[in-house]
Amino acid sequence: MPMPGSSSPMRTPLVVGNWKMNPTSMEAAIELAGGVRAGAEGLTDAIAVVCPPAIWLRAVADSLDGGPVKIGAQTMHAEEGGAFTGEISPLMLAGLAEYVIIGHSERRQLFGETDASVNRKLGAAMASGLVPIVCIGETLEERERNDTLTVLDRQIKNGLDGITGQQVGGLVIAYEPVWAIGTGRTATTTQAQEAHAHIRQRLRQWFGAAAAEECHVIYGGSVKPDNTHDLVGQPDVDGALVGGASLDIKSFFEIIQRARG
Ligand code: PEP
Repeated sequence: MPMPGSSSPMRTPLVVGNWKMNPTSMEAAIELAGGVRAGAEGLTDAIAVVCPPAIWLRAVADSLDGGPVKIGAQTMHAEEGGAFTGEISPLMLAGLAEYVIIGHSERRQLFGETDASVNRKLGAAMASGLVPIVCIGETLEERERNDTLTVLDRQIKNGLDGITGQQVGGLVIAYEPVWAIGTGRTATTTQAQEAHAHIRQRLRQWFGAAAAEECHVIYGGSVKPDNTHDLVGQPDVDGALVGGASLDIKSFFEIIQRARG
């Protein structure tokens, strides 16, 4: 089995923690960020990112300042400003966050996001200098119908419509089978590698060889310390998007360690 990080010297393993709507106090958010920072001190052979709720971004950014852990937002609006009650614009995130998750399956399923809205947000994020982490992945029903690769094709084609090859090289795609998110049911290494290889092949075909080589394609869906090594060891898996396990300092730290090249 190839070792983690052996996929390409151009793609440093990337581990992103999506805290979702947790923790529920600023003190707990700062404590979690501080723990991740302490564990990641001196980290050079992997990139660690935490994505706290928007309301804790400032406090977490202050607590991570000067350390190796980077910060991302969980979502954003496509417009720069205006009458969009409750929303956060890419301009507001720029300077505070480096990454932004776009089109997470919970956003698609619970908040009506589509490939078209993902595409608008993607353009807006890049225009503001943010690195988008674009989530794609099939539902259980789609997998059981043998539609996985067709769904991925549609999400890539529509979600990345109008994006140049050079831009694709700078973004992150997270393959997250919906049936594996928060369920404890992880994709097998074969399922993950098959989907990731397909995504990379499409990137090569539609955006060019350099884009496919540079773009990070990370796996998400019940990643835990125990399965990280095998998943990130696949040649086309460049890291992990971690939900539940990123809320536990020890687990997240172990996942980072096991994803390192
Ligand atoms: C996620 O929220 O993107 C995710 C992968 O969650 P979990 O790790 O809990 O399955």
